[in-house]
Amino acid sequence: MKHCQWCDVNFTTKISYQIYCSSTCREAATREKIAERYAASRRNRRHGKVRKCKSCGSNLSAYNDDPLCVNCSVNPSEVSKALKEIKGLMNGKSITD
Ligand SMILES: [Zn+2]
Ligand SMILES: [Zn+2]
Repeated sequence: MKHCQWCDVNFTTKISYQIYCSSTCREAATREKIAERYAASRRNRRHGKVRKCKSCGSNLSAYNDDPLCVNCSVNPSEVSKALKEIKGLMNGKSITD
């Protein structure tokens, strides 16, 4: 009696090296392995490559998809403008939707 590595079902086979009950399970497991390997190689490639911020040149995090670092992706003038708008709203009339 053998135990399928994919669907956890018990099965019998004459082939000693068979670890899946059916070709469907074998294909599914193979596909998953390929996907895993692909994801791992993508991760490795990303970590191996040092990317720099387009604005200030500091190293970017491997998880940062933007071409700018955290400091540069926030535009200071935009932030102060937004803050002024919020202040204006609070000082002025009530906010209506
Ligand atoms: Zn199976
Ligand atoms: Zn930067």
